[in-house]
Amino acid sequence: MAVDNYSSLTVDAIQQGLRSKAFSAVEIAQEAQRFCEAENPTYGAFLSFCAARALNAAEAVDKKLADGEDPGALAGVPIAIKDVILVEGEKNTCASKILENFVAPYTATAVQRIEQAGALVIGKANCDEFAMGSSNENSAYYPVKNPAAPDRVPGGSSGGSAAAVAAGMAPLGSETGGSIRQPASFCGVVGVLPTYGRVSRYGLSAFASSLDHIGPFSRNVKDSARLLGVMAGKDPRDSTSAGAAVADYVAGLDGNVKGMKLGVPKEYFAAGLDPEVKTRVEEAIAALEKLGCEMVDISLPHTEYAVATYYLICTAEASANLARYDGVRYTMRSKNAETLSEMYRNTRHEGFGKEVTRRIILGTYVLSSGYYEAYYRKAQKVRRLIYQDFKNAFAKVDAIVTPVSPSPAFPLGAKTSDPLEMYLSDIYTITSCLAGNCGISVPCGATSEGLPVGLQILADHFAEDKMFRLADAYENR
Ligand code: GLN
Repeated sequence: MAVDNYSSLTVDAIQQGLRSKAFSAVEIAQEAQRFCEAENPTYGAFLSFCAARALNAAEAVDKKLADGEDPGALAGVPIAIKDVILVEGEKNTCASKILENFVAPYTATAVQRIEQAGALVIGKANCDEFAMGSSNENSAYYPVKNPAAPDRVPGGSSGGSAAAVAAGMAPLGSETGGSIRQPASFCGVVGVLPTYGRVSRYGLSAFASSLDHIGPFSRNVKDSARLLGVMAGKDPRDSTSAGAAVADYVAGLDGNVKGMKLGVPKEYFAAGLDPEVKTRVEEAIAALEKLGCEMVDISLPHTEYAVATYYLICTAEASANLARYDGVRYTMRSKNAETLSEMYRNTRHEGFGKEVTRRIILGTYVLSSGYYEAYYRKAQKVRRLIYQDFKNAFAKVDAIVTPVSPSPAFPLGAKTSDPLEMYLSDIYTITSCLAGNCGISVPCGATSEGLPVGLQILADHFAEDKMFRLADAYENR
């Protein structure tokens, strides 16, 4: 018996294969390791592998199957975990030199739930250092190449997770941060930003605590729906995790979207949007209309302030969160220091990359006395206005449809010298991170050069069921 179509397996196909004995979970784990180790030098999607862990989990699944027990909703499904999410006993570098040798002392709640459902954690996915970036080029180790076009970036910060799914290395990938959707759109896979609080952040290395999320990547909408269903729900270890009921997302994929009202915000189709991306998204909107959805022109008037607001809040939170990496605990320690303060300074200087350093400095500045009111407090007020924009919109419509990113994947190196240009690639995704509502990126075709384009569907807080239903209906139209 062999797993001969590993790179195109879906969660359903794995469940069927296991139950019909076409292959065992151990065979999947072995094939995952072989395939990923062969492909990784090309794409750089993984920073490390967890072969023994995956094999142990697979043996447990096979035993349950042999004993007639339910092996779980994700039985035998290989999964890549972004290297900012803790998996006990495995390295967690946050793609930073400063945590080069850090081994996680415990497992994140989301990963615990995935493993309890029978998934096989096969490795830690590459990303931008501490999840700061939009191209994966800020990894301290190596960049990730986009499987759809290897001279291009995969997006970021979760470029490794998106590329792992796109290259067929892992049917599912898990990740964090604001931009799950941007790398998903660049690589042509599905990526979901759950509502803030939907998935516990316990065990997620903190970047900007009020913006950080863990969410799924997958080949199709149904797999993401299944994965989110497993990860979601209250966790006593994260006080910001929400108690809102978790619907059966997979059961809700009935294809019926007739009469659903979809908002089309004019601010997301303005200057700066690549014409081919615009065309693909307009075609997707027309397809949803054909399925019976009703389009409504709407406005999210504070959109133009989103990037500035995001970069004030996230840098402020990052400067506080990253203060813990001081050479005393967790991290490497500079060898070139005589005094304690030199040791702090040199460790941080040698351990953090350029973008992380820039954000710590910016964040410290906007929180400093005299500037707090002018920058940080002001940004919090604008964040509230952006939140209100979405609340007003969702009082009128079921969901909002937009592009994911203004351009398709750009060439490696194209934006590394201009941080502002880089920040702008998140202009359509950052808004919902600030507002805290959920969103999904679904592939909606490609440009004439063959670069994938994503359709973004945004829904209100805790309305993931509607978002999945629409995305699935579109995908299977
Ligand atoms: N690109 C955004 C940033 O650089 C978001 C990154 C993320 O999702 N973690 O902050």
